[in-house]
Amino acid sequence: MSHLTPRPGILDIHLYQAGKSRTTGNVPPIKLSSNESAIGSSPKAVDAYHAVADSLFRYPSSDHLDLREALAKKEGLDAGRIILGAGSDEILQLLCRAYAGPGDEVLYHQYGFVIYASAAQGAGATPVKAPEVDMTANVDNLLAAVTDRTRIIFVANPSNPTGTYLPAEEIKRLQANLPENVLLVIDAAYAEFCTKEDYEIGTDLVDRCENVIVTRTFSKLYGLAGLRLGWGYGSQDVIDVLNRIRGPFNVSSPALAAGMAAIADDDFVERALEHNAEWLPWLTGQVQAMGLEVTPSATNFILIRFPQEKGRDATAANNYLMARGYILRKVDEYGLPDCLRCTVGLEEHNKGVVAALRDFLTQARAAL
Ligand SMILES: *Cc1c(COP(=O)(O)O)cnc(C)c1O
Repeated sequence: MSHLTPRPGILDIHLYQAGKSRTTGNVPPIKLSSNESAIGSSPKAVDAYHAVADSLFRYPSSDHLDLREALAKKEGLDAGRIILGAGSDEILQLLCRAYAGPGDEVLYHQYGFVIYASAAQGAGATPVKAPEVDMTANVDNLLAAVTDRTRIIFVANPSNPTGTYLPAEEIKRLQANLPENVLLVIDAAYAEFCTKEDYEIGTDLVDRCENVIVTRTFSKLYGLAGLRLGWGYGSQDVIDVLNRIRGPFNVSSPALAAGMAAIADDDFVERALEHNAEWLPWLTGQVQAMGLEVTPSATNFILIRFPQEKGRDATAANNYLMARGYILRKVDEYGLPDCLRCTVGLEEHNKGVVAALRDFLTQARAAL
């Protein structure tokens, strides 16, 4: 037994289980487990990353001004109200540290991103889940779960691992009915993939309401997950608070340089979006045609539900696919032990995983 005792709550935090990257079979792994970019990174971002190699002895910018200004220009925002982080994860953590502590509650929706719970617990606060309806965050249930102790509400929009989204009107209704001392965090990690007409990222709401912040990332559409780069757009007061508690050099110089190049690479963004627009519906349709339920997705991944029969369930499917080299994501920790999450990959990977899944179902049926 150690004599060193961490703050209460820290030992209750579940260690984050990242998407796996090794297979069980003697086959090259095809990783579809972490919602990474199917088409890799922008070549311009990779060049910019290499170009920084000569100046690695220098500290990076502390105020991140160049990238904040570039983001502001591109998205029509106020650069002074943007904060950059080592992934949007860091922004989520900073928000909990700044606004929630022991005795406070951090609310999110049933299948919301696991980081919300660990970020809350890391700050000593209590995570609270509100039930979803149809695998989608539900505004009435979230509002019903707000108490005097609620300090932060996280809404992943679109959400991971379900892939579902809330229309702009629902997000507005949520904000309109919240006490002013509750901060609404809209985690828009998959915003760029969502093409639904009634969807909005939420930046207008940020401009109108002090208690709303939107977080974004370079990890998904921009394919820079390995560099750790994300950002938030909030009210001046919230951004000032976060800047006080972040590390002064929280974003590395290669990340800043690659981020600048990535947002200027319209061609890459267009290719990434076109790829997703083609393969997300294809994957969805193919898997549904096998008789498996797929949650309608507004992202770059799908959530597949398996029957709960031994030999045909999600665990059996996962083991089978692993042996064939396809790494999907088990989502037991989300309370979805009957589902697997599958990221949209390159054409050959999508076709391969669909074929492997079909073989799995055929052999499972034959074994009955
Ligand atoms: C991937 C993801 C993020 C982004 O994480 P980064 O730290 O920016 O890599 C945030 N929220 C959700 C829901 C995600 O799935």
